[in-house]
Amino acid sequence: AAVPDDRRLIVVVGAGLAGAMSALYLGRRQTDGKPAFQVHVFEKRGDFRARELATDKTDAYGVATDSVKRSINLALSCRGEAALAEVGLLDAVKPTLVPMHGRVIHDESGALSFQPYGKPGEHISSVSRERLTTLLVTELEKLPNVRLHFNHKLETARPDGTVVFVESDDDGRDVKGGATTRLHAGLVLGADGAFSRVRAAMLRGSRVNFSRRFIDHSYKEFHIAPGADAASAIARRDDEAGYRLEQPHGLHIWPRHEFMLIALPNPDRTFTCTLFAPNATFEELDSAVKADGPGAVVAFFRANFPDALALIGEENVASQYAENPAGSLVTVRVDPWNRGRMLLIGDAAHAIVPFFGQGMNAAFEDALELNASLDLCNGDLDASIKDFVAKRMPTGNGIADLSLENYEEMRSHTASPLFVVSKQIEGLLHALAPTWWIPRYSMVSFSRIPYDEAKARAHRQEAALSVAEAVVGAALAAGALAAGVALARDAPSGFSGL
Ligand code: FAD
Repeated sequence: AAVPDDRRLIVVVGAGLAGAMSALYLGRRQTDGKPAFQVHVFEKRGDFRARELATDKTDAYGVATDSVKRSINLALSCRGEAALAEVGLLDAVKPTLVPMHGRVIHDESGALSFQPYGKPGEHISSVSRERLTTLLVTELEKLPNVRLHFNHKLETARPDGTVVFVESDDDGRDVKGGATTRLHAGLVLGADGAFSRVRAAMLRGSRVNFSRRFIDHSYKEFHIAPGADAASAIARRDDEAGYRLEQPHGLHIWPRHEFMLIALPNPDRTFTCTLFAPNATFEELDSAVKADGPGAVVAFFRANFPDALALIGEENVASQYAENPAGSLVTVRVDPWNRGRMLLIGDAAHAIVPFFGQGMNAAFEDALELNASLDLCNGDLDASIKDFVAKRMPTGNGIADLSLENYEEMRSHTASPLFVVSKQIEGLLHALAPTWWIPRYSMVSFSRIPYDEAKARAHRQEAALSVAEAVVGAALAAGALAAGVALARDAPSGFSGL
């Protein structure tokens, strides 16, 4: 059915991962061989591609090589890949991915152990946020019915679809006395992230429920440079070589109870590291740096992550600590996700803590599901939004809960000594009965089982497993599984959710 004229204009607020992917789906929809919608995407920051192109050192995607070196990477898994495949971009993304087949755990003695994520061949992938956004935005520009407006910051939105944008600088700050743009949209899609203005507008004077909960940890990024042989490894397409860390095709984790360092590989043979630590630890470190100088950061790394320190370098660790701000971690829940002509998507609807590596994947799946609702409702916007929100809101809560559960696991001072044995039992059950028993991690990362269903099923399975473990425990006590005990005793302590 044709979309009524006054609903044909869709305003997408935010050209991040959720906004760009949703705009691509919406922009490609057709009615009677013509575009179903006119899509306008407004982004408060400047066009990062233009800025980085100016540096003159760009890769195949037009992203500055310097920035690629310092790029922030994300773990892409099944749900995100499904959306990329549907919009026909997975093949373009694939050459830029670094597969990660499991966790590489660095224990306190410096020893490494490998925990596969799933069955042989199952893996998640490290992908550059900049590359992905560049690819999506460049695809958007090819559509005649889509217009991108950078340096436009949403000021106001109303349930009747009225939106007002003000001119903003490349960092998204208001330009004093800048131009104002006013539109009346058939749909305002709030893809403006965890601190969404569309959401703030929805909450004003309405019965929309909202909660925002910061956890007691923050994060900071560090960077491991490529190995000396990186250029030649890249030239001869040797995917394993050129990295400074062994086992580059894994997600490296240094679990240290209350804090943890992780490292994800990049195609240029660098690693992006993220330190997660309690806010109190960052405050203590900040004070120590003020009092004693940057050596305090070096001392912290030497005490906790000596092997990572050797790779990052003492000078770099101190300068990167000073340069990179500590980011906060928040869970946002909204109920409902829509009001009048406003609808939230991605982090604006469900910001989650990153301990399952699912925020972007969930945002991409949102875009895919919104498109599926439009198909189901024959393009009727109101009916599609209703269908989308009814199906998708529980899944948003599901992944928020699953991510927080992993955070709790990280915090628990001693991961169960039976953790590794449990995972092995789960792996065995999955191999014997692949549809009957699917481990929690596999349901989230290697399937499209709705997140809330995955959570309920994981809880049921784990309850059953703990009964089985009690039986195994009795057998262990009888000395029947001595080898299992030794394995469990040697298991690395701390977090293994990611
Ligand atoms: P954003 O990426 O925040 O984009 C919002 C966009 O809206 C931005 O471009 C912003 O400039 C723009 N905007 C904001 N306000 C306005 C306004 N008023 N007007 C106009 N434009 C505006 N996810 C994964 O899937 N895998 C991972 O491994 C992973 N790791 C993570 C690690 C960390 C440390 C963190 C913090 C997150 C991680 N995530 C991961 C989550 C992922 O980054 C987010 O879920 C994802 O970026 C959400 O995309 P979004 O488009 O909804 O929001």
